[in-house]
Amino acid sequence: MVEPELSFYGEFLPNVSTLTGSIWPIDKLPAHLALLNRSQFYVKQNDSPDSVMRYFELPANVVKDQEISLLNNCMVDIGTNVMTFRIKAERQHDRRPHDVVQVQVPLSAVELTQAAAVECGNGHELFVRGLRFLDLPSENWHELLDYWHCHKPEHEHHGNHGHNHHHHDYHDNNDNHGSSAISKEELYPRESLGLVGSAYLTTVLSDIPGTKVRDREVECKECGMQLGTLHKKNNNVAKIYKWNMKLQGQASPAKFEVFISAILLGIIGFHASYHFTFANSSDKDSPRVLVWVFNTDVTYATSETDKVNRAIKVLYDLAPEPALIEKVQPEAIDFAEKTVTALIESLQKTNDCLPDSMKRFDTWQVGLLCRM
Ligand SMILES: [Zn+2]
Repeated sequence: MVEPELSFYGEFLPNVSTLTGSIWPIDKLPAHLALLNRSQFYVKQNDSPDSVMRYFELPANVVKDQEISLLNNCMVDIGTNVMTFRIKAERQHDRRPHDVVQVQVPLSAVELTQAAAVECGNGHELFVRGLRFLDLPSENWHELLDYWHCHKPEHEHHGNHGHNHHHHDYHDNNDNHGSSAISKEELYPRESLGLVGSAYLTTVLSDIPGTKVRDREVECKECGMQLGTLHKKNNNVAKIYKWNMKLQGQASPAKFEVFISAILLGIIGFHASYHFTFANSSDKDSPRVLVWVFNTDVTYATSETDKVNRAIKVLYDLAPEPALIEKVQPEAIDFAEKTVTALIESLQKTNDCLPDSMKRFDTWQVGLLCRM
């Protein structure tokens, strides 16, 4: 049987236990169609059980098996050629959608300390054996220091403190970013002790004999894979991004998006800010993206992957008007250009999986970022 060219996007919102499914194009759907079992959505040619043409994974279990038909429980959007159904799904008790601060991020200090070896993405060992790692309290710890400093009773003073709490620096280069708020002493790693943030770790160069430094970039000595950069203020310290590393025995590094999401969730938990810009602040012409976190916890499945993913749902704008930036006052997240480009590509790839009726919201595009 020839499979009809159908696309599916399903989304589960745990806070309301609702599952929304969209299927398109409508004109490729048979008139009599669909049935759910609790975890899949079938497209059937007719009533017969043998007539299943396609099935799609649902992002959550529905409460009971039920029939879906174009005439009954669907909204049909002729303009975009998409039909959408909305049904109750099982509550997931292990989900704690409001717990956004304490997101478990891969390659924690405990995992890194216990690992037999830590490798580049291509499996070459990077570190001396027996290193210890400590988790940085939070990637926002500089700001916590700032906060404690300004708000200690003995230093109480009034008026504008004159610092900017809205700058998060996740990449290092030689430039002084001028507006950077990070004025407190940074914590540095020591020999045999690395420090671990949600997106990167820092370590002294003598602890990473499997790497070499070229133009301030830190690379795998064996395969040349770019791992990170030298610390901008300390040439003896390397900053290595977690998405370029894996523990020995793992097939590949964790997805880059998982770490970006962890950064966003951390800032949301700390500042309750939902708007962010990602850019390389030292290059005004480099790509940038304005991101508005719309929902911190959705689960989705698409016909592209047949896999269920937990994600943050975001709205994004690749060319935001200055007036919009002024209005939403985003947190500035500073990343190297290639990281910003990878983020934009990832958002656009997820936007491509959405039905036309869901790709845009006002002037924004809609995207998804995988999270833990
Ligand atoms: Zn390598």
